[in-house]
Amino acid sequence: MAISRLPQDRWSWVEINQGALRRNTRAFKNLLNPRQRLCCVVKADAYGHGAVACAKIMYATGADMFAVATVKEGVELREGGIVSPILLLSEPPAESIDLLLEHDIMPSVYTFEFALAYGERASQLGKIGKYHMVIETGMNRIGVHYADVIEFRRSIHFHRGIQCDGVFTHFATADEQSGWDYKLQCKRFDEAVAAMKDAGFECGIVHCDNTPASILDPSTHYDMIRAGIGLYGLQPCETTRPIFPLDPVMSVRARVTRVAHPAMGEGVGYGFTYRVPRTRVQICTLPIGYADGLSRTLSNRMDVLYQGERIRQVGNICMDQCMVAISETSMGRMPEANYGDVMTIIGRDGDAEITMDEMARLRGTINYEVACGFGMRLDKVYV
Ligand SMILES: *Cc1c(COP(=O)(O)O)cnc(C)c1O
Repeated sequence: MAISRLPQDRWSWVEINQGALRRNTRAFKNLLNPRQRLCCVVKADAYGHGAVACAKIMYATGADMFAVATVKEGVELREGGIVSPILLLSEPPAESIDLLLEHDIMPSVYTFEFALAYGERASQLGKIGKYHMVIETGMNRIGVHYADVIEFRRSIHFHRGIQCDGVFTHFATADEQSGWDYKLQCKRFDEAVAAMKDAGFECGIVHCDNTPASILDPSTHYDMIRAGIGLYGLQPCETTRPIFPLDPVMSVRARVTRVAHPAMGEGVGYGFTYRVPRTRVQICTLPIGYADGLSRTLSNRMDVLYQGERIRQVGNICMDQCMVAISETSMGRMPEANYGDVMTIIGRDGDAEITMDEMARLRGTINYEVACGFGMRLDKVYV
C-alpha cells in the first residue's frame, strides 16, 4: 500500500503502522478456536488510532464484531462503511434508541426501563432490538447484579421487541490472574450464566475477556473475547509482556519549525522554567503541544529523538508548540537541526525508542491515556 502523504498544513502528525495493526489482530485471532469470535474494541476513536480506518484493517484480518463506548462512535463506524455487528459497551439514554435501531447498534442493557423502552420502539418500527446484557460481578461499574439476573430476565422476557444477543461482564483485576478478586468475578459470572441457561433464558454470545484476560486465561475465552489495547501494540500490564509480543502501532512525529541560538541566560517559553545555561545551545521549536496530547506535566522532563539520539525538551510545553534543546550530550556534540527536520516524540528512530509506556510513567498514568490523547487533534498518516 502506498504511503499516505504527510499532512501539508501542519508539521506534526500521528503515524499508524497498518502492518503492526494487522499482526496484532492476527495474534489475538490465533488465541481462539474457529467457533470463538474476536470483538475488536475501537472506542475513543480506536484508542486514538482512527476508528474507521482501523476497523477496516481489523475486519480484513478476521474481526467478527466491534465495540464502542458511545452511540456517536457506533454511527461513525456505520457511516464509514462497517457492516459487522457493533456493540455499545454501556446503556445509553433512552433518547438514543432511534439512532441505535436505525444504525443497527446493539446496546448493553442492565435496566428494566431501558429494556422496555427499547423493545417498545423496536416493535413500533417492526424491528427486533438486539442487546447484550451486562452482569455486575464485582467491578461495581455497570450491570445487573449477579444475584438478580433471573429476576431481571423474567421481568423483560415477555417483550417480543427485544432479543438477547449476548451476556457479558468486565474484569477489574484481569492482570492478577492468581488473585482472589479475579477468581471471584469468574465464579459469579459462571454461576449467573449457568442459572440463566438452566432457567431457559437465551444467553447468546457469552464473553468477558479484555486484553489481559484473553492473553493470560484461555479458560475464560467462552464465545468471544473483547480485545482493545493489545490490538494497538500496547501491553495492558507487565505480566503479559514476556509471553505475548506485540508491535506498537502509533508513532508521533513533528518537524522543526524554527531554529535559534538564544544567548546564555535567556529564558525559553512561558514562565522561563528553562534558561539557556551556556553559549551554543540550539533551541528548536516543534508544532505540538498539550492540546495535541503532549501533557504539560511533561515540561522539562521528557526527551524527543533526533537522528537516533535523545535530546531534552525544555521550557513549559505550550498549547500548540514546544521547544527542545540541542547541546552537548554524553555522546559528544550533537549535529544541529535544520528547519524541517523530523523529530520523534513517540516511536523509533534508529536504535533509539520512546515508548508510550515511558511517557505514561513520566506522566503518572497508563499507556491507554497517552495514546487516546495523541489521537484527539493530530492528523493521522497510515503507513
Ligand atoms: C475498554 C473495554 C475493553 C477492552 O479493554 P482492553 O484492556 O483495552 O483490552 C473490554 N471490555 C469493556 C467492557 C471495556 O470497557
